[in-house]
Amino acid sequence: MSELNKSRRDAVKLMLAGLAAVPVLNLVGMANAQAAELPHLDENDPTAKALKYVSDATKAARVDKAGTPAANQHCANCQFIQAAEGDWRPCTLFAGKAVNVNGWCASWTLKAG
Ligand code: SF4
Repeated sequence: MSELNKSRRDAVKLMLAGLAAVPVLNLVGMANAQAAELPHLDENDPTAKALKYVSDATKAARVDKAGTPAANQHCANCQFIQAAEGDWRPCTLFAGKAVNVNGWCASWTLKAG
């Protein structure tokens, strides 16, 4: 009987762990889906211009920053980019817009970790 109870407890634990994982996976999926729907940041947007944003980092006047060579600086490895997938993703500096992962702006900061 106690062996049956242990199996039942183990089964309940597995079900609860599975249920807990579903919302996390849904949030990641929702963030990526929402990012895909955002309008792309226009380089002529006043804030974008002020921060010298370009959607192609090779066209930016980058300089080595905090030990990172200019050529290695782009939105994909910036601290401020959001979402895990997609060529265009939200950036905390440009609310409601998506930036290109190959872009760059003067606020570029190497992503921690
Ligand atoms: S803050 Fe970072 S992610 Fe946002 S536009 Fe500038 S370089 Fe790209």
